[in-house]
Amino acid sequence: STQIQLVARPQGWPTEENFRTVEVTYGPLAPGQVRVRNAFLSVDPYMRGRMNEGRSYVAPFALGETLTGGAVGRVVASRSPEHPVGALVSHQLGWRDVVQEDAGQFRVVPDVPGLSPSVHLGILGMTGLTAYVGLTDIAALQPGETVFVSGAAGAVGSAVGQVARRLGAARVIGSAGSAEKARLLTKRYGFDVALNYKDAPIREQLAEAAPDGIDVYFDNVGGDHLEAALDAFNDGGRAALCGAISAYNSTGSTPGPDNLANAITRGLTLRGFTVGGFLHRSAEFGPAMSGWLREGSVTFDETVVDGLENTVEAFLSMMRGANTGKMVVRVDA
Ligand code: NDP
Repeated sequence: STQIQLVARPQGWPTEENFRTVEVTYGPLAPGQVRVRNAFLSVDPYMRGRMNEGRSYVAPFALGETLTGGAVGRVVASRSPEHPVGALVSHQLGWRDVVQEDAGQFRVVPDVPGLSPSVHLGILGMTGLTAYVGLTDIAALQPGETVFVSGAAGAVGSAVGQVARRLGAARVIGSAGSAEKARLLTKRYGFDVALNYKDAPIREQLAEAAPDGIDVYFDNVGGDHLEAALDAFNDGGRAALCGAISAYNSTGSTPGPDNLANAITRGLTLRGFTVGGFLHRSAEFGPAMSGWLREGSVTFDETVVDGLENTVEAFLSMMRGANTGKMVVRVDA
C-alpha cells in the first residue's frame, strides 16, 4: 500500500517537504478484518488544523504516521460477513490507496445510481450534513429570512445556499473568490446575489447587497466576512460558526471582529459547531438530500484531482480556492 505521512509540522502554508510517501505491506487478514481499495479521498480544510501541534477538536496528526481522513472504497478481501467483497464503504483511513483494518472502521454505503461514490464524501456525506445542521440546528433558519453564506462556491457553502432555499429562505446572498465562482452562485446554485470578495471589501459589498439586513450568517471564512455579517445583522440574527478558513494558514494571532459589540445591542446569537456532534441528524438529512437531488432542486459540483501522488497538491490548491464544490482525489475508480 502506498501511504502519505506528515513528517514535519508546517509553519504557515504547508509545503511538499512536510510530507513523505511510504510503502506499507499488510499481512494476511485476521478474523474480523477487511481490506479496502480506496476509490476517492477527501481533502478538507480541518486537516490543516490537525497538522499543528496542540489541541483542536480532533487530535493532531502524529508525525511519521500515515495521515487519516475521509475516503470511500471497495472491499477487496474480507473476513467480516457484514462487509462482503465488492461492497462500497465509507471510512476515515484516507491518504493511502489500500487499507486493511478491523471491519468496525468501515461503514457500508449504497451505490447511488448515476452518481459517483465520491458523493459520500461531499453532498451526501459530511459536507452536506454540515450545511444542513448549520442551517437547522445551529442557525434555526425560518422561512422568509435572508441568509448570507461565505465560501459559497465550496463544498459546504454551495450546499448551504441551496438548502437554505429549500428551507424557505426568501433571499440568499453568497460570497466567493472569483468572478467565475460568483457567476455559478447565481446561475447554477440559485443564489439571489453573488459577491466576489476580491473585488472590493466584503463589508461594503454586503451592506449594499442587503439593505434590509440579514437574519442568518453561515460562516465558513471568519475574519472580514464575520465582521461584514456582524454589521449587516438584523436584531435577533443568528450566525452558524462553521469554519474560519481565512486564518488557517496564518502565523501569529488572529484579530477578533472589531464590531462584536453588535452582538449585544442587536441580541445576536453566534454559535459554533462541529458536525461530528450531530451525526444523529443523518437520519433526517440523508432522505431529505437524496430527495432534493432526485428531483433536481439541489445540485452539486466536485473538483476531481487524479492520483494519490497528487493528494498534497489537491489539499493545498483547495485551501487556495482552486476547487468548485467538493475537492476529492481519485485514487482508483
Ligand atoms: P471548500 O470546498 O469551501 O474549500 C475551501 C474554500 O475556501 C476555497 O475553495 C476558497 O474559495 C475558500 N477560501 C480560502 N481562503 C479564503 C479566504 N482567505 N477568504 C475567503 N475564502 C477563502 O471547503 P469545505 O466546504 O470543505 O469547508 C468550508 C468551511 O467549512 C471551512 O472553513 C471548513 O473548515 C468548514 N467545515 C466545518 C465543519 C464543521 O463541522 N464545523 C465541517 C466541514 C467543513 P474562494 O475561491 O471562494 O476563496
